[in-house]
Amino acid sequence: MEDAAMKGVLFYEHGGPEVLRYEEMEEPEAGEHEVVVRIKAVGMNYNDIWARQGLPGIKFTLPHIPGTDAAGEIVQIGKRVTTVKVGDRVAVHPILSCRICSDCTSGREYFCRNTRVWGFQTGPRMGGYVQYANLPEANVFPIPDTITYEEAASLTACLGTSWHMLVTRARIQPGETVLIWGATSGIGTTAIQIAKLFNARVIAVAGSDEKLEAARQLGADETINYRTENVFRTVRKLTDKRGVDVVFEHTGVNTWNTSIQCMAYGARLVTCGNTTGFHAQLDLRVLFWKQLSLLGCHSMNKYEVQEGWKFVKTGHIKPLIDRILPLEHAAEAHSRFESDNRVGRIILTPWEAKSAYNYV
Ligand SMILES: [Zn+2]
Repeated sequence: MEDAAMKGVLFYEHGGPEVLRYEEMEEPEAGEHEVVVRIKAVGMNYNDIWARQGLPGIKFTLPHIPGTDAAGEIVQIGKRVTTVKVGDRVAVHPILSCRICSDCTSGREYFCRNTRVWGFQTGPRMGGYVQYANLPEANVFPIPDTITYEEAASLTACLGTSWHMLVTRARIQPGETVLIWGATSGIGTTAIQIAKLFNARVIAVAGSDEKLEAARQLGADETINYRTENVFRTVRKLTDKRGVDVVFEHTGVNTWNTSIQCMAYGARLVTCGNTTGFHAQLDLRVLFWKQLSLLGCHSMNKYEVQEGWKFVKTGHIKPLIDRILPLEHAAEAHSRFESDNRVGRIILTPWEAKSAYNYV
């Protein structure tokens, strides 16, 4: 495949959606332990936005190719690859780590000092907004024929993150009550369905009736529109003044105080993000008096992604897709992502966009 050209999206400088360029670039070759995947679908993720805008304290190597959640078909394998073959349909596990250190070998690849999130911390280039991508053999896993590539690309990093948050970190128990912010976001949709696997009672929060209806379809028992209702008072009413056992946080400063207020005595809060800002305040008296647990969470391991996929295969975890767009419309997709109107994932297709889903 030497000198062969493919199409992809990258940027040379940080900025708004207009910095995204759809260009011809060199096709990758598989290294000894690598595979080349013909990327059929790539799911948009907050990482794509943060990398494009630039983040204080993080240096991105330019030019940068975004794209963390992807699925496709293996078209080439390195000579030492043994677990997958050409023609396999695969999804990408996007956490690149050394796989040798004690953290990696104990299943805690998210603590590896050499961990990089593919399409976010990788570069120059390397990411999912392309027609072909090379990845370590360990970073792909086969998917069943019953799942489309667009669906698979909706259920990699977000599913793994939600699993890591609720199952590994918060240790969700059957019958607990869980408050989930951003119910129709990538991690919100998967969190609702994971909580329901535990027969938890899910209270889902979002900002429109359309989003709340989608959350109910995914299994949410109760819904709250934060634009028209007081979240704390509604949670208090729904839980007979007790509060919830687990808060699923990722929005940060705008929701933090309400999250703490909604916690029952002995409850856990698990958070992986701060899309509305990171300088939250905490009354320490509430923390110790109510014996709360605040759990930080970042990334996932391959085991967690594949545990989630057991339930994708049985139909218990489904994706929620907002739009499928051709990759060359990436700038339009980024604008929609940032508009906060989307209900579910935005998927980009590097080859063709043939699907039953709506287009913008
Ligand atoms: Zn390691």
